Parts: sequence; C-alpha cells; structure tokens
Amino acid sequence: MTEKDVLKLFKKEKAFLSGHFLLSSGLHSPHYMQCALVLQKPWIAEKLCRLLAKKCGRLKPQVVIGPALGGIVVSYEIGRALKVRSVFAERLPAGKAGVDEILTLRRGFSLHKNERVLVVEDVVTTGRSTGEVIELVRQSGAKPVGVASLVDRSGQTPAFPGGFFSLLKVDIQTYASQECPLCREGNTALVKPGSRTKKE
Ligand SMILES: [Zn+2]
Repeated sequence: MTEKDVLKLFKKEKAFLSGHFLLSSGLHSPHYMQCALVLQKPWIAEKLCRLLAKKCGRLKPQVVIGPALGGIVVSYEIGRALKVRSVFAERLPAGKAGVDEILTLRRGFSLHKNERVLVVEDVVTTGRSTGEVIELVRQSGAKPVGVASLVDRSGQTPAFPGGFFSLLKVDIQTYASQECPLCREGNTALVKPGSRTKKE
C-alpha cells in the first residue's frame, strides 16, 4: 500500500474531505480530516496500523503509548501488530480550574525503567501532545524510541527522538476568515464538519 493508496482510502471513508470548512479552531480550510472515520472500521484500522508497525518495528519497542482519545486505537492496533503492551495517556486537571491539563498514566498503567517505548498518534499537527507523551515517558524512566502517526500534518519533519514515521503526509492550508480565498470566491458554502442540525 503506497501513500497514494492510503490517501485514496481516507477519501473513500470520507475521513479526508475537500470543500470549504470551518475548523474548531475558528480557521477556514479547503480540507478537513477526521481520522476517527477511518478507524471506526476495525479491519481498516488493523491494516493501516500493521503497515505503520512494519515501518517502525525495527525500533524494537516493548510497549506502545498514545494520547487519549485519538491515540488509543492506534496504540492498541500497533501493540497487536508488534505483540507488545499498549497503553494510553489521558488528561487530568492539574488542580485549579483554568490550569492546563496534563497527560498522565492512569488505570494502573505504568512504564518500567529503561523500557523501550514507541509513541503513537492518529494525526500529528503541531506535535504538542506528542511532545507531552514523550516527556511523560521520560519522566517514568522509560526510553522513547520513536514516534509513529497514521497522518503527518505537521508540514515539516518534527524532531522527535528516534525518528518519525507516518503513512500519509498532508499539508492542509488554513486561513483566518477575513483572509480565506474560498470566502472571497463565494462559490462554496462554509461547512462546519461534524455538526448536526439539532431538533429543537
Ligand atoms: Zn472561508
């Protein structure tokens, strides 16, 4: 399966849409990506994650970790492919309301000293949550050996320890509403993905 095939699959599953979208950030974009729509079919999730696992299996991880929620399925399926443990990190309020939440291990999950850990994601955009998971791994005394993500939206190669592996690189442009060329053309209606018309 080539990168082109992966993109085709995303389009077929409506996980990669083209048009005129209002993102949750408030920015406008000609594309919208929703990995969950590909991962909702376990047989596709399994296939894609096996492919990604093959790319980074030589890192010989002993455990796979992803951030909740997006990283859970990917962590689970890569763990299955590599036959290693799969855990996830989740956000907990740091204390007072308004303080940024931190990623932690709960549910009895733990990483052992010097354990080789592969950090996984469904999509890497800014790399912020990925960086937080890497930090969590380090603080646990384990060793982050690399990062794997189904989709790389970073637009560059983030400097992750051990290297960065992905199946699909996409560059999705975003615009502030007043600078959006699609708004200026006025041909396509602005769509808010994932929103449903509520019955009042
Ligand atoms: Zn627009």
